[in-house]
Parts: sequence; C-alpha cells; structure tokens
Amino acid sequence: MADCRGHVFTKKTFHLPAYCHNCTNLLWGVVTQGNFCTVCNYIAHESCLKKPGISPCHSLAASLIKNPVSHCWSEPARIRNQRCCNVCRKRIDGRTFSVTCEICHYYTHVDCIPSAVADCKETATYHPGKLLTSVHHEHHWREGNLRPGAVCYACAKPCWTTDCLAGFRCEWCGITAHATCRTQIPYECDFGILGPIYLPPHAVSIPRTEVPMESIIGVQVRRKDKQTPRSISIEFSSGESKTKDAEDEEMYEVEKTKEDKNEELVKVYDGDASYLKHTSFTVKVPKAVKTETLISTILQSLNISQSAENFYLTDAYGLNEPILEDPNPINNVTRLGGKKPAVFLRLKQDSHGGLVRVYPGRLQTDIPFCVVSVDRQTTAKDLIVESLARFGFTSHNSTDYRLSQVLLEHGVTERVLDFDEKPLDIIKNIGQESLRQMELMRFYLQLKQDPHGPNIALFVGNLPTGLSQRTYENILMTFLGEECRFLTIGPIYYEYGSLVIMYNETDVAVNAMYLLRSSEYEHKHLLVMLLPNIDPVMVPADTQPLLVFVNVKSGGCQGLSLISSFRKLLNPYQVFDLGNGGPLPGLYVFRHIRDYKILVCGGDGTIGWVLQCLDNVGQDSECSSPPCAIVPLGTGNDLARVLKWGAGYNGSDEPIHLLEDVIEAEKIRLDRWTVVIHHEDGADGRPIHVPNSVGKLIF
Ligand SMILES: [Zn+2]
Ligand SMILES: [Zn+2]
Ligand SMILES: [Zn+2]
Ligand SMILES: [Zn+2]
Ligand SMILES: [Zn+2]
Ligand SMILES: [Zn+2]
Repeated sequence: MADCRGHVFTKKTFHLPAYCHNCTNLLWGVVTQGNFCTVCNYIAHESCLKKPGISPCHSLAASLIKNPVSHCWSEPARIRNQRCCNVCRKRIDGRTFSVTCEICHYYTHVDCIPSAVADCKETATYHPGKLLTSVHHEHHWREGNLRPGAVCYACAKPCWTTDCLAGFRCEWCGITAHATCRTQIPYECDFGILGPIYLPPHAVSIPRTEVPMESIIGVQVRRKDKQTPRSISIEFSSGESKTKDAEDEEMYEVEKTKEDKNEELVKVYDGDASYLKHTSFTVKVPKAVKTETLISTILQSLNISQSAENFYLTDAYGLNEPILEDPNPINNVTRLGGKKPAVFLRLKQDSHGGLVRVYPGRLQTDIPFCVVSVDRQTTAKDLIVESLARFGFTSHNSTDYRLSQVLLEHGVTERVLDFDEKPLDIIKNIGQESLRQMELMRFYLQLKQDPHGPNIALFVGNLPTGLSQRTYENILMTFLGEECRFLTIGPIYYEYGSLVIMYNETDVAVNAMYLLRSSEYEHKHLLVMLLPNIDPVMVPADTQPLLVFVNVKSGGCQGLSLISSFRKLLNPYQVFDLGNGGPLPGLYVFRHIRDYKILVCGGDGTIGWVLQCLDNVGQDSECSSPPCAIVPLGTGNDLARVLKWGAGYNGSDEPIHLLEDVIEAEKIRLDRWTVVIHHEDGADGRPIHVPNSVGKLIF
C-alpha cells in the first residue's frame, strides 16, 4: 500500500467491530475490511484514503509543526473516560496511567508521552511593531474526543464518536468538523462564541525563558510531589518500555509459529539512547533481504525521508557492533538465546556534509523552512547568514539574530548556539544517540531581542504587611545579592505584603525568581511569579477580555475542575488560581486594559477578597471598576443567592455555559459595599438592602 500522510498502511482483517478514523463509520464486511497503519494504528476505509483531510501519522505530524509548543501535562491518573489517546489512537480505559494537557484537549497514555506531538496552543504570540489589522489568527485543530452531540461546522451532520479518535475541534473557537469537511473551512478563526471575552494570544507576551509553562501559570502548586511532569514521563516511559520489550518478545514467540518461513522479524535500535532506554521497534522483512531494502524499510518506519545511502547497519548483539553487509545482512547476525536479531541503524560518519532545516519561527515570512547544506567548516554564524538570505532578509544584520537548536523529545527543549559552533557536529552527535531525534531536531532563526521586550516583571508575595519600601528592598536584597539586584520596585501593595520588581535581563530575572522561590521570610515561603505582559493596543475594541479568578480550595474538587476547564477554553494567561498569589497578579497584568470583566469562582469570602483588592489597585488601572460575575463554590454563598446565581455551582453545568452566561449577562448596578459589609459582619439571616433589580453582574 502506498504511503499516505506518513502512514504505513496494510490491509487488515478486524475480528471486532472497527471504525474508520476519517469518516467515523463502521468498516463493513468480514475479511480485510480496511486499512491499518502499523505505526500509529490509524484505521480507514479504502475509499476514505482517497479523500482529503486524512490526519498525518503522528511521526510526520511532529515535523509539520511550525512553532513547537510543549503540552502542560496533568498528574498521571487512571482515568476511565471514553476518550482516545492522541498518540496511539487507542482507548484510554483506566487500566494504565494517562494524562491530559492542562491547557488544550490533548489526551494520552503516560507510555505514549515520548511520542506526543508538541503542538499545544500558542498562547503568547505578541510581536512588536505588528499591527492589530495585520494579525491573522488561524484555527488550531485537535483530533478526536469531541463532546457527544457535536455537529460538523461544514455539513451540519454529527461528527463525534467515542468509538475511535476521529473528528476535529478547534482549540480556540470550539467549532467541530469531519476530517474531510475540515479542509473546506476557511483558515481564519475568530474565537467563536467566546470571542467577546477572549484574551487574544497576539496581545500577550511572556519573556523567552526555560521556565516551564506549568510553572508560569501555576499548575504545579497543587502537585503533591515536587517532580516536574517531564521527569515523571521519563520515569514512566523507561519503566514501561522495558515491559514493552518483554511483550515484544512474547509476541515474537506467538508470531514466530505463524510466521512465513521466508520472513524474519528484526528488532531495530535507532541509536545509543534507544538501546539504553530499551525503546526498539520491529520490522518484518524477507530473510534474503538486501541491506539497502532493509535500511529503506527501517527509515520508513522512523518516518525519516533521507536516502538510504547515508546509513549503515550493525549487529547490536555482536562484539564491537560489526557492520552488516550484503549479500545476506541478517543471516549472519548474533542471536542471543531465542531472541530475535537486533540491529542498529547508524548514520555514516565519514560524510563531509549534510542538509539541515532552518525554521523562521515567528519571523515574518511565508517560507515555512529552508534546507541548507552544511559541511565541517560551516559555523552557526554562516548558517544564520545563509538562512537570512533564503528567507529574504538580505539587508538584515546577522549579528541581530541567533540560531537555536530545538529538540522535540519529552516536550520541547531549546538551546542557543554559539556563533562558532558547527551545526554538522551537532547533527552527528544527536544521530549517534537517536536518528529519530536527529530527524525531528530543527534549527530556529530568531531575533536576539526578545519580542517581550526588556521589562521583565516578577510578582513577590507572602512578605509581612505594612513595612516601608526601604525595608521591603532590604529583605529582598538579602536573598538576591548584588548579582540579582532588581532594576525598579513597585507597585508595592503594603496591605498585602506583595510587590512587583522589574528586571531588564531575562537570565537575571529567572535566577532571581528561583532564588526567591526557595527563600523563606519569617517562616513563610515567598511566593514568586513571572508575569506575562499584555499590550492593550492589540486587544480589539469590541473585546472585553475576561479575567478569571478561581479559588481552587473552594467547593471540594469543583474549583480544580473549573480552573482546568477555563484554561482549556480561554487563554491560560487570563485564568488565575487565587491560591497562587491571590487576586493581585491578575489585576496587575490586566491593569492597562481599558475595558475588561472579572469572573470570580469561590465562596463569599473569595468575592469580598477580589473586590477589596480591586479597590486597592483601582487608581493604577485603566479600568477602575470592571463588572464582576460570580460562580459560587462551596457553602458560603449568601451573596450569590441574593444575586440569583442559585445555591452554588455543583459541577453539572458545562463550564462553557458559565462563560456564555457571562457574555450574555445583564449589567446591573449593585452597591458592592452593602454586600461586603454584610459578609464581614457575619450577620446571617438579617435582611440586607439590595436594589430592586438584581442580576448576575455587579459593578
Ligand atoms: Zn500512521
Ligand atoms: Zn471512512
Ligand atoms: Zn496511547
Ligand atoms: Zn496542550
Ligand atoms: Zn477556531
Ligand atoms: Zn462534515
């Protein structure tokens, strides 16, 4: 079967009902009902393979992303939720651990994390000098796991299923579509029904740092252990991979009996790293296979598009890895007691040059990437000059740019190259470890200057209240030392023991953040957040971004599940966990926006807290009294009851409907102080005075 979008299809007989991942319908017939991809388990009707919109095999998908963005994994859990894995496409059934992304709708088994495609939402894409009118925001399609009842935007017929990973949903606007219908939908996305309250990514910037997203938006605060998701995934995957290898062996025993006498199963390692981590894969080839054919078969399974000439095979179990050659490469391999033969695929090291791909990242060009040939002498600086010419930036000064190397294993890791580093050496070293990683490695051309600009703000909380500015400065400096001295301090929120300090160098700011996070003052851990910046000019005039505060400690698990839903539905930079610094960081970040709304999820105490902070920062903000909406959580919900929001959020209402209510809600003036004073008096049952017309929003 010919290649289709990177899949390796074979005709297959399914003994249980199987469904087409393109059209969601059942495969009919008794034998060889459809096509099956041996790499990603994609299943499709023969006729559907000819239609447009077949999603790419996951290994090809990785190389199609323009700007890789790591997902922000939840804690691994055994979830039984009728969902399918976005990597292996199989059901997530609660028998093994799985995770979901905290900010998009990507679901995967923990075992599958190493192959997850780093295509999370790009939530902060501000580019200095770019005009709002020239911003083109596109749909971000996510495959599968559509909500029951979802209909296709193009053909209006149902496009959801729980039988397999099929159908698509835009991560921003939420429209859904069949795989094939999706190709007819225009690219431009307007954030759909949430448009009026969406914080557009092109208005947001975050300093270019190594600080993981989960640490910036505060997902990590509720983790019981101190591990980052990255290390969890490595532990799980290496452990599971061993058992995978063991399973392979069992399968081998079974298959061997059925196996064609003229065929051989060969275990393949794509480098030293896969050998150490026991992550091999198996190819089935004729016993008399020639070296070149075997290499081509392996390259196809790895989704590597290079010519077989650049590679050679070695005997993995042989002493000093002897090279395997024609006429019978696999007849002569070492076989360890009943195990199938194992080979290494290696890159020829004697080659004098190679091709590298350079991506323009967020630079303003329509060229997706360029392929540049490099030799042993080529330096990173040469590559910058050459790529600038290819992207049409001939008049630009190469010293304003930098080249970084991006790896796509376990998320996205980036390293900036020195000007005199040799790209060819880098490629070869990675190739020795893993050819798959080498194929997925990319170089990025970036402006040296961070689009975020030089003002990096850190929010610091948990200091004693009511000290003088000088005293706060002295406290911070004892932790920071001269090397991490901040440039300016302020605003200072004396009543809350919180303040903002500014830096103009990212490295220093990040060091300061980690130093302060590990510090205690008067037995309290300091709370430190790296804050995003919002350019108010990039917020469309008809948009009132919603600033969401969730008290995750309210209402049992409701707070947690709500914040998780809001981060997926909205821009995570507009959703703040009150357990992480209270209302001040969010109010500070939104201070320049002329017109915005607030949604508070929590008990009465929470609402009073937010309103009080709003009063304190009001004079520094463009919008001094934004309308507030309330989602009552927990028991203390007098205020919400008065406002007819009902007794409380019980988890049954879809979070999207809560947001729709916020957009629809009538704005009715209510004397806030009446309510706040009532709460502080604790005068339960005493009638309070509220205006006649009570609605869902208060000023
Ligand atoms: Zn596939
Ligand atoms: Zn089909
Ligand atoms: Zn999976
Ligand atoms: Zn994600
Ligand atoms: Zn969209
Ligand atoms: Zn359709």
